[in-house]
Amino acid sequence: MHPTATDPDAAAQTPVNLHSLGRVRVLQALTDAPALSRAELVRRTGLARATVGSVILELITAGLVRESADGVPSGQRAGRPPQLVSLDPEAGYAVGLDVGHDHVRVILTDVVGTSRWDRSETIAVDDDPERALDTAVRLITSAVQDTAVPPEKILGLGLGIACPVDKATGGLRAEGIMPGWVGTRPADVLAERTGLPTRIINDANAGVLAERRFGAARDCANVVYVRLAAGIGAGMMSDGRMLLGHLGLAGELGHVVVDLFGAVCRCGGRGCLETVASPAAITGLLARSWGQPVGSVDLAALLRRGDRGALRAVEDAGEAVGRALSTVVSLLNPELVVIGGDLVEAGEALLEPMRRTLNRGTMGSLHQRLRIVPSLLGDSAGARGAAALVLDGVPEQLGK
Ligand SMILES: [Zn+2]
Repeated sequence: MHPTATDPDAAAQTPVNLHSLGRVRVLQALTDAPALSRAELVRRTGLARATVGSVILELITAGLVRESADGVPSGQRAGRPPQLVSLDPEAGYAVGLDVGHDHVRVILTDVVGTSRWDRSETIAVDDDPERALDTAVRLITSAVQDTAVPPEKILGLGLGIACPVDKATGGLRAEGIMPGWVGTRPADVLAERTGLPTRIINDANAGVLAERRFGAARDCANVVYVRLAAGIGAGMMSDGRMLLGHLGLAGELGHVVVDLFGAVCRCGGRGCLETVASPAAITGLLARSWGQPVGSVDLAALLRRGDRGALRAVEDAGEAVGRALSTVVSLLNPELVVIGGDLVEAGEALLEPMRRTLNRGTMGSLHQRLRIVPSLLGDSAGARGAAALVLDGVPEQLGK
């Protein structure tokens, strides 16, 4: 018997709303897999077949899921065509915002994560949070207007930011990283200005979410994502769970020391990986040797031309990342390392020395089955991962 409002004893013994729980379980299963038969939904949710049937009917009526034939030609079918249930992509939308050191990017996705709008603007972010947030709000407004998505269907805003994020408070640990942002609470500001429920995450953690859901790490439960950009950071998943650490600051790979006598880092340390392997560090090396400024665009062109100095600088950076990753791999035993960020455009010139150094620095059993691959999502990983943070809450949000 179902508890009802007039049955207080039953309600007291059953604090969980079982009906809602069924909806949430079905929506979760459909979030994890793009299309499922009713039999598969029964298996994955552990719900009775009749319950799955009534939940699907409700969700179809509410416009949240749809049912369609599986594509088998009718002549080859015996009996009733099998139907597959999937989320209706237009059941809801998410906004993903990536705030890097030198850009602001906004993506609007549907509920299955397909990008419907995507724009990036280059601006200097570190010292001017107001301008960066103004830019973000303007881009979000354009995204909603251009796509004509009903605002009430936008489930939330995810903010990925190139700065350590305190997991308990959502506050930034911006000292030395994004100096102008110390003491700011960008998620609160954006929630107020956009009216959207807003969640915040470090950009490398957003990257691992995105690669696992949409990119190179699909179906990988043990994965490290490394972002080699103006800042260097890592997002790590172990047995499918994100590793955030005590405060949420785990994965600061860019501030692992790789050269005791190296340059002083913006964090106050010396010889951090970021001082050796960020694109700015590499172009800085070339600028010193040539006596003239070298931009990041120039680096890509130099590598294509096979410039020996550029190749050497990238090779050394790859080795430094490989050394830092040796420790990560020895501690976490991932099956996959995904390399993202601007520098991955260097391709094998970067990845080959990285693999070589990593193999030298780890036990054979740790690296023999380890794959190191470039990101499939490229520059969009941060914004798509921030949107994925919202999409992760879809079953609970829509199933209530
Ligand atoms: Zn540092």
